[in-house]
Amino acid sequence: MKKPHIVILGAGYGGMMTAAKLQKSMKANEAVITLVNNNDYHYQTTWLHENAAGTLHHERTKIKIKDVIDSRKIELVLDEVICIKPEEKLVKLAKQELTYDYLVIGLGFEPATFGIPGLEENSFSIGNINNARAIREHLDYNFASYHNESEKNAARLNIVIGGGGFTGIEFAGELANRIPQLCKEYDIEKTQVRLIVLEGASTVLPGFDEKLVAYAMNSLASRGVEFINEALLKECNRDSIVFEKDGKRRELPTMTTIWAAGVRANTVVEKSGFMTNSGKVKVQSDMSTPDFDNVFVIGDCSLILDHDTGIPLPSTAQIAIQQAEIVAHNVKAKVRGWKLKTFVPNLLGTIASLGNDDAIAVVSGRRLFGWKASVMKKMSDNHYLLKLGGLGLLMRKGKFNFFY
Ligand SMILES: Cc1cc2nc3c(=O)[nH]c(=O)nc-3n(C[C@H](O)[C@H](O)[C@H](O)COP(=O)(O)OP(=O)(O)OC[C@H]3O[C@@H](n4cnc5c(N)ncnc54)[C@H](O)[C@@H]3O)c2cc1C
Repeated sequence: MKKPHIVILGAGYGGMMTAAKLQKSMKANEAVITLVNNNDYHYQTTWLHENAAGTLHHERTKIKIKDVIDSRKIELVLDEVICIKPEEKLVKLAKQELTYDYLVIGLGFEPATFGIPGLEENSFSIGNINNARAIREHLDYNFASYHNESEKNAARLNIVIGGGGFTGIEFAGELANRIPQLCKEYDIEKTQVRLIVLEGASTVLPGFDEKLVAYAMNSLASRGVEFINEALLKECNRDSIVFEKDGKRRELPTMTTIWAAGVRANTVVEKSGFMTNSGKVKVQSDMSTPDFDNVFVIGDCSLILDHDTGIPLPSTAQIAIQQAEIVAHNVKAKVRGWKLKTFVPNLLGTIASLGNDDAIAVVSGRRLFGWKASVMKKMSDNHYLLKLGGLGLLMRKGKFNFFY
């Protein structure tokens, strides 16, 4: 009898964890399993802001897929997903086509630039290893170029972070720590560098605990970060931005705009004709799509409403990993003719890093800040590595620099 074909798209938090769970729990003769990804490595998206700031080398963030996935049980296809044809149970890749019996979509997110003129062309976003590497190189290049030009250009040393949400604030924390090193390396006075967070709302980290937000702002401000709140980015050019504040348009010279104010689900999902809501598939309780019960969607491509508030759950690695465990079970259950499980999110807390040894967190209803929150964050990262690839992976890639 032909074995069912399970295809997993994307080796991010959701896809990798689904693959790792299926690899452990299914016998080789039960199904053919294929994992499709555009790189031969998995990366920890939640560390990318460190790679972008240059405080952590990107090799630390990358995990070779073959170090976790056993090629005797799961075939890795290195290719780009172009679109899915769910009626035909077919996935079009750049170099080939795959048919499937069960499909798991875990293609993550893309930046959303909301049609702001020039933003797509002239800004950076922190979305993958390539983007992060480009930001680090760009920062180095601008610092190195400053003294090389007869006419000093402030735009080279003004860095704007568009968006004071989690990604923007975490990046600001890392970069605030890196700037003194850059200044030393390129003989630049620290006072000549401006690191500005531009936020549309009246506060950064909107919706987060107010005392912790105040702590975060003080910590970042003490390291030179400037905040411009209630300001809307209107235009992004190669060497300036235009924003609106208090009804007035203002221009700021900068060659570095990091856009951290918007992401959307991977556009492959919408282009493939799935029923979407803001680009995401509103999944059923078993994580399958409403129209195709053999297609499961996880992570940032999926939409789940909070049971009590009706508000969409945030797109986080934490949720993607939890969903993967249920999806792995449900795909196996489909193959074995078992009952499917319902996904119930277990929101363990929220931690935002403010640099290597500083963070803010709300964990089990308790506020934490400073080194305690930072240790908590590293322990949570380490827990993921242990779960994904065991002690070996944890020892190779874990963060053990708890107190410095
Ligand atoms: C800087 C930053 C910090 C963050 N910090 C936190 C945090 O502290 N805690 C937290 O819970 N969440 C955090 N998040 C959010 C979290 O990273 C995402 O919610 C999570 O990565 C989503 O997981 P995923 O499995 O859906 O997709 P991803 O982890 O993004 O993985 C998607 C995978 O699909 C691959 N892929 C994409 N398109 C294609 C294609 N067309 N063809 C083939 N392969 C493709 C990608 O290469 C990648 O391997 C952070 C995000 C950022 C950017």
